[in-house]
Parts: sequence; structure tokens; C-alpha cells
Amino acid sequence: MEEMLSCDKQYVTLNLERYDSTDEALLRNYPRYVTPGSPLFDPVELARKTERIVCRHDERKYTGFYATGVYGGIATGYSCGCCLRCVFCWVDWSRDFPERYGRFYSPQEVFTNLSKTARGYRVTKLRISGAEPTLGKEHLLEVLELVEASEFNLFILETNGILFGADRDYVKKISNFKKPHVRVSLKAGTPENFAEKTGAKAESFELPFNAIRNLLDHGVSFHVAAMSADPRVMDEKERESLVLKLADIDAKLALNLEEEVVDPYKTTLARLEYVRLKLKWPLTQIYPPVKLPRRGEFLRRRLGRYSYVR
Ligand code: SF4
Repeated sequence: MEEMLSCDKQYVTLNLERYDSTDEALLRNYPRYVTPGSPLFDPVELARKTERIVCRHDERKYTGFYATGVYGGIATGYSCGCCLRCVFCWVDWSRDFPERYGRFYSPQEVFTNLSKTARGYRVTKLRISGAEPTLGKEHLLEVLELVEASEFNLFILETNGILFGADRDYVKKISNFKKPHVRVSLKAGTPENFAEKTGAKAESFELPFNAIRNLLDHGVSFHVAAMSADPRVMDEKERESLVLKLADIDAKLALNLEEEVVDPYKTTLARLEYVRLKLKWPLTQIYPPVKLPRRGEFLRRRLGRYSYVR
């Protein structure tokens, strides 16, 4: 079976016959990028399906190991496969077609690659990024055990929060380690917007917020990021709803929110085109940061000591 997909002269060929090691039925019904009218999926169910593709015993698929300049320089392992289908996602096609990309690495191989990369580039921090690093619980916990016993003192774990929201025990186990710092990345401010932007069912909107509560309850070091600085993909009302929801959990989370904008990676542009979402480039305006109220300013919403003000 072969299907040709095209977008902006970029072609992706699917040839399912080549992947006889993976259940064909799973691949045929496997959600890829979002198109208008795509059926919404349960992201926890998609996580389990994706794990059948990208996990094997305690191994996990990765597409590569590099050092990058973010976080002041960090060695990064790029994991393969995700349980969301964000329309503005920058990750390469391994997100949509995980059966075609990457190779399996044991926890020890991942740690060895991260360590070698860190030493080669003289950086001291480690990270797993790309797609969704929390798929494959056993694998990730074993990687963290190796990091914990190493000379590296900071491990950044980037997540969409779906599995940490669905599995409290997972967060409890993460809390046994001192080195991880988790970055939870929120995609939307309302259930409806979450469904539109991620392809997941609206009711799963709560899961990343549950993840935040679980991380707080277990004392894990973390901060929250959101695709909320870009007016092209989040209007003011939705942004306010997101900030207020965060502030209801803890006002400091809203004040320390790391806000992102959509960047024009090739994969991002293709995914936007597949879903027929037109953004104007270049981006000319972003929202100002979430701020504390000025002295004496009336609090528009009750947020304890803080308020969301523009
Ligand atoms: S942006 Fe992150 S959570 Fe969304 S699809 Fe891409 S890798 Fe997954």
C-alpha cells in the first residue's frame, strides 16, 4: 500500500508493506497530522498505541543526539513519537510516522550518547526532547536512574503533560529523583481550542493541568510553558482563560509562564497547510508578558494576591 502526501513540494511516502514488524491494523488507523474533519482521538489511548511502535522492552526509539544552545547549552536526545498532533508542531515527520524513523536505544545507550554529546560540546546539562519523552515509562525511569548516579546535575524533561496527568504514580516515581526539571508545555486555553489545536478529544484538556497539580503535590521541580504569546493562534480571551486556570492552581505559575510563538519550520508550515490554517508571516506582534497588578489596581479577577493584567 502506498500513499503519496504532498505539501509545498515536500513529499512524504507511506509504504506500510515495509513495516511488517508492526501491527498493520494499528498503523492503518494510526492518527497522523490533523486535517479538517479528522476524528478526535483519546491521547492516552494514542500514547499506548504509539508505545507499541516506539518502545520495545526497556528500549525507546530516538532520532538523534545533539547539543543545542537552549538552556545555555544542553545535550539532547530526540525521542520519537507523540500522543498529540499539534497543528503548530515543529518536530520532524517522526511525530506522524514513528514507524519510519529513529532506532531503538536502551536506557544505557541513551545515557552514554547524552554523556558523550555533553562532553564533546562541553555542556553540563542533559535533556530529552522532540515528540513526547514520557512515552515508555520504564525506559525513562531507567534513564533517570543513570543520570541520578552521574556527574550531571540537571536533566530537563519536556512534556505535553498528558501522561503525567493521567498517571499520578508516574509523577511520584519522578519525584524520587533530584536531577530532573520538568517543562510542561500547554497548547490551549479551553477544551474546544485544545481539540482544534491538538486533534485530541476536548475532555483531555484537563490532563496537562492535572499533571501540574501532580508535580506540585509531589514536589517535583518544574515550570509551565504555553503557545500563548502568539495572537495568530490564541486570541485574548483564550489566553486569559489559560492564565486564569493556571493562576487558580498557583498564581506564581501564571506569573512565571514561559510563552512561545509559532516558528516557520518546514514541518510546521506543512502541518498548518494540511489543516488549512493560514498564518501571516512574519509575526509582527506578540502579547506582553503576564504581569503583577500595579499598586492599587483593581483586580479584574480574584486570584489571591495576583491578577492577570495586559
Ligand atoms: S508540539 Fe509537542 S506535544 Fe504537540 S505534537 Fe509536537 S511534539 Fe507532540
